[in-house]
This record gives sequence, C-alpha cells and structure tokens, in this order.
Amino acid sequence: MDRRNFLGLLAASSLSALSVSSRLWADDDDNQASSLTAVPANTGLSGHIVVVGGGMAGNTLAKYLRMWGGTGVTVTLVEKETTYTSNIMSNLVLNGQRSLDSLSYRRDTLTGHYGVSLRIGEVTAIESANKRVLLADGGMLAYDHLVLAPGLEFDLLPGMGSASEYDTLIPHAWQAGPQTQLLRDQLLAMPAGGTVVISIPRAPYRCPPGPYERACVIADWLKRNKPGSRVVVLDANADITVEKDNFLNAFNVTHAGIIEYKPGCAITQVNSSTREIMYTQNGVSVLIAAGVFNPIPPQRAPDLLGKTGLLNSPDGRFAAVDVLSYESTVLPGIHIIGDASHTTQPKAGHVANQEAKVCADAILRRLSGQQPDPAPVTNSACYSPITASTASWLSGVYQYDPASGTMKLSKLAASAGATNRNYEDMSTWFNALMQDSFG
Ligand SMILES: Cc1cc2nc3c(=O)[nH]c(=O)nc-3n(C[C@H](O)[C@H](O)[C@H](O)COP(=O)(O)OP(=O)(O)OC[C@H]3O[C@@H](n4cnc5c(N)ncnc54)[C@H](O)[C@@H]3O)c2cc1C
Repeated sequence: MDRRNFLGLLAASSLSALSVSSRLWADDDDNQASSLTAVPANTGLSGHIVVVGGGMAGNTLAKYLRMWGGTGVTVTLVEKETTYTSNIMSNLVLNGQRSLDSLSYRRDTLTGHYGVSLRIGEVTAIESANKRVLLADGGMLAYDHLVLAPGLEFDLLPGMGSASEYDTLIPHAWQAGPQTQLLRDQLLAMPAGGTVVISIPRAPYRCPPGPYERACVIADWLKRNKPGSRVVVLDANADITVEKDNFLNAFNVTHAGIIEYKPGCAITQVNSSTREIMYTQNGVSVLIAAGVFNPIPPQRAPDLLGKTGLLNSPDGRFAAVDVLSYESTVLPGIHIIGDASHTTQPKAGHVANQEAKVCADAILRRLSGQQPDPAPVTNSACYSPITASTASWLSGVYQYDPASGTMKLSKLAASAGATNRNYEDMSTWFNALMQDSFG
C-alpha cells in the first residue's frame, strides 16, 4: 500500500460534521498554523463543561467544544502539568534524534484564542451526585457535563516496592518526561556488549506497536554506538500484537542478531537495583540480568476513576462508555475519552483526538436537546520508526455497529515494509495531529 492509498483510507473515514478532515492531513504545517477558526458567538448553546486532563484527548475536546459550541459554552480544563510532553515520537529521544523540548506543547492557543479557562491543578475527587469535582488545592468546580481524559496509571511489577523505582532505577518511559531522559542516559552509560531488556504487558496497553518500535529504535542505535549489545524483548502476549509482518522482518532481518523476541513471557520477580528479572516462558523459569531494564508495565485507568465507581470494563481496569457519546455506562453525565476508556479502538493519541471530537459533538447536540450522531466513524494511524531513517505505518477505520453498540474495524492497512518515504511522512502526520490537538 502506497502513500496515496494511505491518505485515501483516511479520507474514507473523514467526518465532515466532525472536521476530522483534510485539514488534519494537509502537507503544509504553516498553512494550518495560520488558519485558526474563530469561536462563534450566539450559537444558542450554553452550559459549563469541566474537562479533567489536557493531553491528546482532553486538549482536543476543550478546543472543539468552543470552536463548535461558541462563546456560550464555557469550558474549564483542569490539568496537572503546565506543558504537555508528547509520548508520540518519544522513542526518538532514546536514539538522540529528538529532544524532550521538541515534544513539549503549551496551551496558549487553547486559552488565548479559544477562550478555554485553564486551571493548573489535580482533581482528587468527583462528586457525581452534586455535579462537582474537588481539587488537591482545596478548590471545587461545578459542572453541567464532566469529561475525564486523564490517561493511564501503571502497575508495579512483582518484587517492586514502590513506583519511585520507575523514576530512578528501571524507567518505563511510557509517559514521556524525566523517565524518557533517564532511559536515554542509561543507554548512553551502558558498556558495549550489554543487554537491554524490554518487557511488554498483556494487551490492552497504550500504543500497540510502540514497544516493538522501541525495540527497533534501540537496536538500531546500539548497532552504531554499542557494538556487541543486544535487545531482549519479553512479551507477555502470545505473539506480536500488531503489524506482525513488519516487525518480524525488522527483528529477523533488519536487526537480525541484535533483537531476541520472546513471546508468552510472564514476569514473576524483578530486582530493580540489580536489574535481574525472573520470568517464565512455556512453564520454564528463567533469570536474566539486564544492563538496562525498560519494563513497560500493565496499565489501567487512574485511581480517580476507580474511587468514583467508573471502572466497569470486563477486566475492571478501564471505564466502559457508550461510544456514541463517550458517556459512562454507569454514571450518566460523566464522559470518558482517551486511554482511560474501554472501547474496541486502540489506546492511541490519534484515536484520543478522534474520540474527543465525537464526544464534543455529542455534548453539544445534547445541549441543544438532540441525540448524538447515530453513525460515527473514526480512524487510527500510527507510524513506527524501524531505523533512524525508515518507518512503517498502520492505519484502521472504525464504524459504529448498532447491533453490538461498538466501533467496528471496517478497514485495516499497513505499509509493505519500512521505507525512507514513510519516515518523512511520519513527521507530516505527527505535526498535523499535534497542530489539530494543541494548535
Ligand atoms: C512511546 C510511545 C509512542 C506512542 N506513539 C503513538 C503513535 O505513533 N500514534 C498514536 O496515535 N499514539 C501513540 N502513543 C499513544 C499516545 O501517546 C496515547 O494513547 C495518548 O497520549 C492518550 O491520550 P490521553 O489524552 O488519553 O492521555 P495523555 O495524553 O496521557 O493525557 C492525560 C493528561 O491528563 C492529566 N491528568 C491526569 N490525571 C489528572 C488529574 N487527576 N487532574 C488533572 N490532570 C490530570 C495528565 O497530566 C495528562 O496531561 C504512543 C505512546 C507511547 C508511550
């Protein structure tokens, strides 16, 4: 499948009413930056929406609520951090191709142009009966609709005493930031001939191709900078979960002799200080000592949602939603978008952006007394660097299926291998997505 087909596949899913649109896929980033849509006045809609979390999902939602809803719709975004650091592309910090600064996004356009009220702080409790949220600083915010977009939290691995071990000894770096830099520093400090161990949790986890992509980026860098080193991938899943052909080729051909891929591995004990890892594969217990250990831990929606009684997915770790509106299936008036929600779509930034638009549209329709769009269509896209100059990609289109009440995969396509052209297109795609979400 070539680039024309890739763009065609995405266009097939574009929602004119939801502006998922060609603007997101334009090649000229400067044009996008200079074409900010004005917030309309007098749409006749009014209401106060509180959004918790200003990442890929929450920031997009806050922007589109104002852009489509107009000045009568007031939006307050509560976010812990003053700037957002993109996870997408953060694997390229590990090989020195990107800096964390280059992945940092401010919310000036959101507040200055779109008129969203930004409250830097942490929501610690939700009082759904009183329709208000409580903040760690003692503040309180009342809402008409509440949207939760807080991303994920990470489990400890067996043998770990506290989450601070991720910050100091064995960074997961699955939330881009200081741990990403620590992992980069550990790779730089590792002697040539060392072993990097990456562990992958059982699906669902954030960014299905991301761990395999990371193994490739690290292997490619080790080849040039730490001769004789290897990457051991301990995958809790029975097989490569996505883009199997591309990653098998990457492991067995492009990075042959460097990446050792081990499916069906369950980690049973970790010593963060010595970086010794005990795991079982096919019933056999194995001990491996790593020079650098990058555990990607099992993931779940944040405890805030658990305390509120929202974690009703079959495994009890995520919030089940009605995908026409992203409203909780247990607590009406509370919507959950992005990685914290349980849907049939992958946990990905591109999907978080799409869910935000469907949710914004549904809330605005409700403010005007209408039902949500009965046939939403979304898409996902993911580019994976395989070396410092080649990438592969995967894209899917999801359509609402009334029979099952889920978003059903209607088209799936992957690149035929990794190419330089894909690597160039990756930047275009990334810049456009971030412009749409934060610009
Ligand atoms: C290495 C890597 C590569 C990736 N590559 C891709 C890719 O190529 N394509 C793709 O589509 N996706 C990719 N992803 C996945 C993508 O980053 C996530 O799916 C996406 O960030 C999820 O968006 P979100 O809004 O749900 O969560 P986040 O982006 O994590 O945002 C959550 C926000 O909520 C805030 N928050 C949390 N709790 C509170 C609270 N109580 N009060 C206030 N604020 C709070 C946080 O500070 C954060 O800013 C990648 C991920 C990784 C780790």
